[in-house]
Amino acid sequence: MAASAGSQGMSAVAEAQDVVDRTVTEFDVVVAGAGFAGMYMLHRLRGLGLRARVIDAATGVGGTWYWNRYPGARCDVESMSYSYSFDEDLEQEWVWTERFPTQPEILRYANHVADRFDLRRDIQFETRVTSMVWDETASPPVWRVETDAPDSYTARYVVAATGCLSASRIPDFPGLDSFGGQTYHTGQWPHEGVDFTGKRVGVVGTGSSAIQSIPVIASQADHVTVFQRTANFSVPANNRPLTEAEQREMKENYRDYRRQARESQVGVPMEVQDVSALDVDADTRTAEFEARWKIGGTFVLRAYNDLTSNPASNDTAAEFVRSKIRQVVEDPETAELLSPRGYPVGTKRICVDTDYYRTFNLDHVDLVDIRNAPITEITPTGLRTAEAEYDFDAIVFATGFDAMTGALLGMNIVGRAGEKLADKWEAGPRTYLGVSVAGFPNLFTITGPGSPSVLSNMMVSIEQHVEWISDALAHLDTKPLGVIEAQREAEDAWVQHVAEVGDTTLYPQTDSWYVGANIPGKPRVFMPYVGGVGSYRQRCEEIAANGYEGFAVS
Ligand code: FAD
Ligand code: NAP
Repeated sequence: MAASAGSQGMSAVAEAQDVVDRTVTEFDVVVAGAGFAGMYMLHRLRGLGLRARVIDAATGVGGTWYWNRYPGARCDVESMSYSYSFDEDLEQEWVWTERFPTQPEILRYANHVADRFDLRRDIQFETRVTSMVWDETASPPVWRVETDAPDSYTARYVVAATGCLSASRIPDFPGLDSFGGQTYHTGQWPHEGVDFTGKRVGVVGTGSSAIQSIPVIASQADHVTVFQRTANFSVPANNRPLTEAEQREMKENYRDYRRQARESQVGVPMEVQDVSALDVDADTRTAEFEARWKIGGTFVLRAYNDLTSNPASNDTAAEFVRSKIRQVVEDPETAELLSPRGYPVGTKRICVDTDYYRTFNLDHVDLVDIRNAPITEITPTGLRTAEAEYDFDAIVFATGFDAMTGALLGMNIVGRAGEKLADKWEAGPRTYLGVSVAGFPNLFTITGPGSPSVLSNMMVSIEQHVEWISDALAHLDTKPLGVIEAQREAEDAWVQHVAEVGDTTLYPQTDSWYVGANIPGKPRVFMPYVGGVGSYRQRCEEIAANGYEGFAVS
């Protein structure tokens, strides 16, 4: 089958829904989410001969890349790395066009995969899972899955493939509904696109989504005002078209490359110098940072082995990025405001941009510091901060997500003896390996809290979890009742391990969505596992090889 980024259209939703048999309500497995995790999970479940139904609130596949259609949206892991590795023909035949793929290109890829493996007939779109309840009075026990559609299901197993960054969030600003213009959230962008030509636009937030979209919005709009609470570190993408030669070379070496990715720290093979940033002199260090800056992407952060653990080492990289901002931004006051201070580089998700800092040299782009003078309300004509009032035709909220736990808790999951996941996680998420939860039998979470997930190339982490879950189900199939459940002691030990490894780094100290600091009232817990995808995979494999150590299998 020939495949290219440009040649695959989206299949019509209506057509897809016609082939989903809504009369069937009993399944072996119900999967929530049809992003890259849910799609691959479905493919593997079919391979096991299990009857599966995937449910997604969207009208199509792709998850993140279905929802985040804001201008400038693109991946900051390289395309040939951020793609499935499970099918060699797919890997060989798909043609990526750019080093860092755009959202439309990734979405075309997701749709191609759905077509290629005929996934849509088992996916129910436009349906939100509203509750999942473990019914142990049933014989055998089942999960009862309710949705916002008339449909409800029972299944022996449920898989939450609901994504770490899928519960988008606009802060609870007073007067939000009073605004007379258009409001947008980057994570729920209109499918038909938005033309900002001639408009006065306010952008709230300066995270990755804002940093990607602001230069594109500024290229259209009459005037752009960016409201910044915390300056972010951003590195240039240095994006470019992929050459045929480099595609050929990668495709020839794909197996070896994928193996290296799986064994690496972050799911991308990157050369890390096994030396402290403080063990080399300043000139050597600057030359190294400079070389990695030119490559583009996140290579700078991997220059030395202690940049995420030693504050003084980290500060050398942070100061290097600040010096780059000062070189680009002409107005010294704006440059200083854009220069992140007070937290280590990399401990909030580093951003990767195209022309972000340069955009602030444009006369029609303003930066407003809202750290000390926060937004107090949205008004009918714009917004008000503690210091001033602004009028807009449109406001873009690039204000992020209730990350890692938002979508899971949004499903109102109830486990053994009526225990609610929300109650269990009141003080922060508790999982075994980020893939299972004690008290919630036969529930699997793909890239759940406590797994490397958002600290990795997520395609690598998704494939690893899906394959581990499939193997576990294959193992269970030989058992009469097929119930698998994390044991509390194993979970406690894992939660402690995740925290201990986290505490060896600088991550937990910074206010970021990694620790839930972006959501008022959310318990402060460093949620991802920073031990590395390679060692994490090894641990998961050992646990399986030891008869699913730490799980009760009955
Ligand atoms: P998602 O793609 O989030 O899919 C989850 C699906 O579950 C969604 O379609 C959603 O509609 C559905 N869902 C959620 N709750 C329910 C419910 N209750 N009922 C029904 N359906 C539900 N990762 C990287 O590795 N590199 C990157 O460069 C990168 N860039 C990103 C850029 C953006 C803008 C964002 C938001 C994330 C980015 N990520 C990146 C992370 C990205 O989320 C993952 O790479 C990956 O796409 C996650 O796939 P997933 O299938 O696990 O989840
Ligand atoms: P984000 O990183 O959480 O950024 C949200 C922004 O909104 C921050 O600047 C935040 O300020 C601001 N904000 C939130 N609440 C606010 C409030 N009440 N008042 C004022 N400002 C407020 O969200 P995101 O940019 O959507 O990115 C989320 C994650 O998705 C990224 O970290 C990354 O993992 C992924 N992503 C990746 C890419 C990519 O390049 N591939 C692109 C987009 C997203 P504070 O920092 O002060 O909280």
